[in-house]
Amino acid sequence: MLVKDIKTVFHDQLDSEYGANEVDSFFNILIEHYLDLNRITLVLEPELTLTKKEEGPLFEALTRLENHEPIQYIVGETEFYGLQFKVNEHTLIPRPETEELVELIINNVTSSAVVADTRNAVEKSPDILDIGTGTGCIAITLAKNIPNAQVAAIDVSEGALKIAKENARLNEVEVKFIQQDILKNSHAELGSASQKFDIIVSNPPYVRELEKLEIKDNVLKHEPHLALFVPDDDPLKFYKAITAFAVDNLKEGGYLFFEINQYLGEEMKQLLADYNFKNIVVIKDIFGNDRITKALKP
Ligand code: GLN
Repeated sequence: MLVKDIKTVFHDQLDSEYGANEVDSFFNILIEHYLDLNRITLVLEPELTLTKKEEGPLFEALTRLENHEPIQYIVGETEFYGLQFKVNEHTLIPRPETEELVELIINNVTSSAVVADTRNAVEKSPDILDIGTGTGCIAITLAKNIPNAQVAAIDVSEGALKIAKENARLNEVEVKFIQQDILKNSHAELGSASQKFDIIVSNPPYVRELEKLEIKDNVLKHEPHLALFVPDDDPLKFYKAITAFAVDNLKEGGYLFFEINQYLGEEMKQLLADYNFKNIVVIKDIFGNDRITKALKP
């Protein structure tokens, strides 16, 4: 079949759901991934024809897209902060908001403006811990961009850690991965009085059950609920556990960074203040929503 005819089938089946531009972008990702073709080739060679065998994966992907499966799971990878990451059903797909969190941390550690107001967080080889690492996108990007950073990362999910380890290998960085549930009390492997962290960062589950109505099918039906949802009556449960952990395991002058639920900025400020964190700031994402907190351990 001609590639351009396959593309027409994609538009016929998917445009009403996704819009023509997004379908174009899906198609380009798929032909690049499966056939190593780019869209320019398609323009230059309008008569390009595929064998039945070559068509197979494209039509399989079409069915998965009709079922609202995210394109990133179909091709098994995505880009985050200029790096490639493998993703699967055990991991959330890294979001642009999380790139903003990572950028903020990199800027904090590397900018001289911050040197004056911190004692440890900006030292030359900061110890960093990422809690609930998923694909490893935060931990790995920090390890890649902060020279000499010593990065550790935990997750409760064995499936996620497997992908995270693979991503660290693919991106050629060392990250110490540990399987651990931050909600459980013992963190023997992680912190001891002698090994405290300069930075603790987390993007834990934060979507309330009551917000499920706002969530699209591609997320709701395919991304891991373990990584997304929290009960309506205790939406900050991960933040409480992590903040309590940070009180004991951050160095003085260290920083705690969170990605947060956009509706709970005030509650997060209060929580951090209750645990005696200082210089608490809530930062908005590109969409203008409260998305990040940064707080200093005095
Ligand atoms: N930002 C993600 C979403 O909107 C949620 C991430 C999380 O719960 N940590 O789906």
